[in-house]
Amino acid sequence: METIFTKIEQGIIPSTKIYEDELCFVILDINPVKKGHSLVIAKEVYPNIASTPDETLTHMILVAKRIEARQREVLGNQGSNIIINNDPASGQEVPHLHIHVIPRFEGDGRKHFQEHDKYSDGEMKEFGDKLRIC
Ligand code: AMP
Repeated sequence: METIFTKIEQGIIPSTKIYEDELCFVILDINPVKKGHSLVIAKEVYPNIASTPDETLTHMILVAKRIEARQREVLGNQGSNIIINNDPASGQEVPHLHIHVIPRFEGDGRKHFQEHDKYSDGEMKEFGDKLRIC
């Protein structure tokens, strides 16, 4: 399957690449939440986290950690958001696994989720009982 990211990887679409290895590559997001916003992208096309082999995912999160450290060192950000969107319901635009690494600065005014749900009485326990895996 082809995606915009496979075309970037093949050099058909230009990008600003800042890292590459055998399993993934990292580019700057063209529409950054904050400048320096980076995408760690799998070289193989996996549509979401569930379809990504553990070895690739583990590797990519470690690359994201290195990119985050580099951002802090070079850009001076005091925080970061590290995000994977999965499937259209989440707002995922490109069905090809990628990790967003977004530098965040004190008081920068960005907020990822504008709205939140509220649990009714006893509902949090119900969700916990249904979701618990240990
Ligand atoms: P997502 O919504 O998690 O699928 O994120 C896709 C991201 O890809 C968005 O943040 C886009 O701004 C970014 N993007 C789309 N096209 C390009 C491109 N040609 N170069 C760099 N980033 C891109």
